[in-house]
Amino acid sequence: MSKGTINVSVENIFPLIKKFLYSDHEIFLRELISNATDATLKLKHLTNIGEAKVEYGNPIIEIKVDKENKTLHIIDQGLGMTKDEVNKYINDIAFSGAEEFIEKYKDKNSEDAGIIGHFGLGFYSAFMVADKVEIISKSYLDEPAAHWTCDGSPEYTLTEDNKTERGTEIILHIAEDSLEFLEEGRIQELLTKYNKFMPVPIKFGTRTETLPKPEDAKEDDPAPTKEVDNIINNPNPAWTKQPSELEDEDYKNFYRELYPMQFEEPLFHIHLNVDYPFNLTGILYFPKLTNDMTIQKDRIQLYQNQVFVTDNVEGIVPEFLTLLRGVIDSPDIPLNVSRSYLQADGAVKKISNYITRKVADQLKSMFNNSREDFEAKWNDIKVVIEYGMLTEDKFFERVKDFALFPTIDETFYTLEELKEKTKDAQTDKDGNLILLYASNKVDQHSYIAEAKEMGYEVLLLDSPIVSHLMQKLEGSNEKLQFVRVDSDSIDNLIKKDDTSISKLSDEEKESLNKTLTDTIEDKKFSIQLENRDSNASPFIITEPEFMRRMKEMQQTGGGMFGMGNMPEMYNLVVNTNHELIGEILNAKGDEQKRLINQAVDLAKLSRNLLKGEELTAFIKRSYEILK
Ligand code: ADP
Ligand code: MG
Repeated sequence: MSKGTINVSVENIFPLIKKFLYSDHEIFLRELISNATDATLKLKHLTNIGEAKVEYGNPIIEIKVDKENKTLHIIDQGLGMTKDEVNKYINDIAFSGAEEFIEKYKDKNSEDAGIIGHFGLGFYSAFMVADKVEIISKSYLDEPAAHWTCDGSPEYTLTEDNKTERGTEIILHIAEDSLEFLEEGRIQELLTKYNKFMPVPIKFGTRTETLPKPEDAKEDDPAPTKEVDNIINNPNPAWTKQPSELEDEDYKNFYRELYPMQFEEPLFHIHLNVDYPFNLTGILYFPKLTNDMTIQKDRIQLYQNQVFVTDNVEGIVPEFLTLLRGVIDSPDIPLNVSRSYLQADGAVKKISNYITRKVADQLKSMFNNSREDFEAKWNDIKVVIEYGMLTEDKFFERVKDFALFPTIDETFYTLEELKEKTKDAQTDKDGNLILLYASNKVDQHSYIAEAKEMGYEVLLLDSPIVSHLMQKLEGSNEKLQFVRVDSDSIDNLIKKDDTSISKLSDEEKESLNKTLTDTIEDKKFSIQLENRDSNASPFIITEPEFMRRMKEMQQTGGGMFGMGNMPEMYNLVVNTNHELIGEILNAKGDEQKRLINQAVDLAKLSRNLLKGEELTAFIKRSYEILK
């Protein structure tokens, strides 16, 4: 038997290990299973190249909980360690690695700790949950087994052991403050979280399997059962395979495996597979997305060599793609750094660019190969695409020619097609192409109807970030302007050839203006007289496009800085050519007031602005009229 003191400069690093990353204690199990997996795969390699002359067989890793003795066991059938190797790999190397790690990161703030925590302390993370750890290991080499014990001080013992089966058993004597790790449910949870796709089968207990009934069984004989190993992982997940080996159904099955609680099928997938200049595999899925972006993020899982690392991929994939789901597996993503560093890291930048490009390419080929299918999916995926166009210039360049603009009647145009289609009817007198859109089919119904009657195409653009995107498109397309159907900018379009004649004289207009100003109490309306078609509405409420857009952009982030809460401002457009206006001018006293109030209320009603007391008064007045 040998005793020794681990050679470290800090008196005792275990309290430090314990304190470090308190919330991440659970990673110890992942670390130990990773080591067991490494040991198993190393043996496989050695037998493959003829270095180890042993039967490789079908090794598994077993996790056992012994509640009575308060121990947790991780047992592998890998290459094992000799006594010398325990000395070298555990006492010297692993320990100094852990020490170095702690020294480097103990002062980091908690925000950084998030991702650094994913970088394990390796073997010594066992001491985050155990006050004593044993290693019993039998090497594949013809040497006696070794037994190492350490109680959390730098002192350890190392003796020979009579273990005969090849491999390593790690025994954790779980500390009083970590007894949760003796609960089967908790271990099961950790195994599912971190080890679901690790490459060596992992056994956790047994489960009962029902066998088919024998032929001669009686009606109510119970079906025979058998105890089988409970293997918790799928060692060959879809992303580790070649796309050519997989059918569409396999991708869907894998999606269900990843998200067992998700009942909706994904719309399509993208298989990522590169090995130069960096190594990356993965499958990304486009789910059906709604307009609420916040609740849909953070579903992509990041793995390193099939070991789960995190489902917060911020900084690794571009922000807009965090709306997607699926897995990314890359050994080349440095995790022992803070997120701000990660974003500046060259390798990570390349990975992020690669993923962006793959997504754009896939969308493009869908557009080219089956436009119909692409159009059918558009409304469910547009949030990602529009968000991407807005935030990633490279993505914008790649998708701008096939991004779609649906009309109210569900015709889908590309921007170029739309320009071609509308250029005759919708170019104003200054040569600007005005693209009309609605953001809500129901609320803006009367405005949409009126615009359509005038022969204009009306788009339906209802994503929450669409104001920002329009701003961007206007910036990159000269003489292009998006105008909402209920905004005042629509006037430029209507007045483009100002040949319309007014039915009213200048004096009449002046008197009308005064009457309206005196009668209408609501001061957020500015009155605007116009000569429109006599069939167009007599009163229309519009909102300044610029103001509304700024307000929207402010609500969704960005926009103009420091504009504070902007006041509500509307225009009341009065169509002086409408019959009703003539009647109003001719009416006197209360009758005139009543006509104006009723008509203005109707205009408010069609814009959803008539509420509360005003609405009650309107209803009352309307019944009076019916009498
Ligand atoms: P790392 O896995 O990054 O090398 P660890 O601290 O996790 O660092 O482990 C240190 C070393 O101990 C490993 O490199 C390996 O040589 C040895 N080791 C740990 N666990 C096992 C095991 N189950 N079987 C064989 N060797 C192991
Ligand atoms: Mg390790």
